[in-house]
Amino acid sequence: AAASSSSRRPLDPSKLHITKTKHPKTLSKPEDLVFGKEFTDHMLTIEWTEKDGWLDPQIVPYQNLSLDPATCVFHYAFECFEGMKAYKDKNGQIRLFRPDKNMARMNKSSARIALPTFEPTAMIELVAKFAQLEKNLIPDQRGYSLYLRPTMIGTQKTLGVGAPGSALLYVIASPVGPYYPTGFKAVSLEATDYAVRAWPGGVGDKKLGANYAPCIVPQLEAAGRGFQQNLWLFGEEQYVTEVGTMNMFAAIKDKATGQKELVTAPLDGTILEGVTRDSVLALARERLVPEGWKISERKYTIKELADASKEGRLIEAFGAGTAAIVSPIRKISWKGEMIDCGLKETEESGEIALRMKNWIEGIQYGEEEHEWSYVT
Ligand code: PMP
Repeated sequence: AAASSSSRRPLDPSKLHITKTKHPKTLSKPEDLVFGKEFTDHMLTIEWTEKDGWLDPQIVPYQNLSLDPATCVFHYAFECFEGMKAYKDKNGQIRLFRPDKNMARMNKSSARIALPTFEPTAMIELVAKFAQLEKNLIPDQRGYSLYLRPTMIGTQKTLGVGAPGSALLYVIASPVGPYYPTGFKAVSLEATDYAVRAWPGGVGDKKLGANYAPCIVPQLEAAGRGFQQNLWLFGEEQYVTEVGTMNMFAAIKDKATGQKELVTAPLDGTILEGVTRDSVLALARERLVPEGWKISERKYTIKELADASKEGRLIEAFGAGTAAIVSPIRKISWKGEMIDCGLKETEESGEIALRMKNWIEGIQYGEEEHEWSYVT
């Protein structure tokens, strides 16, 4: 409530001040880019104080932050972030994909940890201007893009546990290549049964940095046994929730009726509200329902997948997220059992995952005109 008080200034894109770098970088060739290792020449920064609200937005040369060791972000994890991309279309225009969804999610994350919120359209305008400024560093080949990382931190210098009286909202940008440079590679998962990522009433459905560090050990354990990702389960029922940092979809045929169903977990607090998840659901409802598919947001257990697999009813499964769009799943290790997710040995993707990737990419690169694509 403090952030929306009328005496405090709202986020105002018309006040943007730009200081360009005098030392432009040379980045690796697009094909040599490693995700999140190289950054563009500038960063967007906006300071907030409890007293004044949002100060004038700045685009400045990419640089270190200087923060007192007592700054609250270092002690109590006042941090939230977003992950989104800017794409260059064949006419050289820069496009964002559903930025309203990322900004709405960021406001939900920041509000949950007593950080300020902002007017989403104002922030989209600023992100668009920032992406425009870095235009020359956005590769234009299909599959390439500029990964944008909006971040907010509490900057108050205090060890007192309370709402931060000051904050910094910033955006950095990293040119990225295709997740699968040589085409899809289906991944193998290990179901994690000894750790829980999120629970109803918790904060696992928010994009808080504090949710991510504890996920690395289970990920390393899975990797140590030869699996690319871990699969997060929830509760005694062992409901399927997410794949690493992606939402999960399964295509199952009903035992009794043969009805084909594309299923994903509901937004009940145990999963992140993925923009890709929402996009897959919307496209599935529009384009797969007429083909006879049923689309469900419902709870389903790992046992349901295992049974469907044994009976030849598990058609395919895939993860969905901004980084890869979709990530086909070959098999899942669960309690010493190996669940086969329906791909032939020679296949790296099922049909639904492949069609979804093409539909979504078509919209992202402006090949299909769609309201989800925001031309900057
Ligand atoms: N789940 C988690 C835990 C994530 O970190 C992400 C990545 N933001 C997703 C799902 C996928 O979300 P999105 O489609 O918005 O990238």
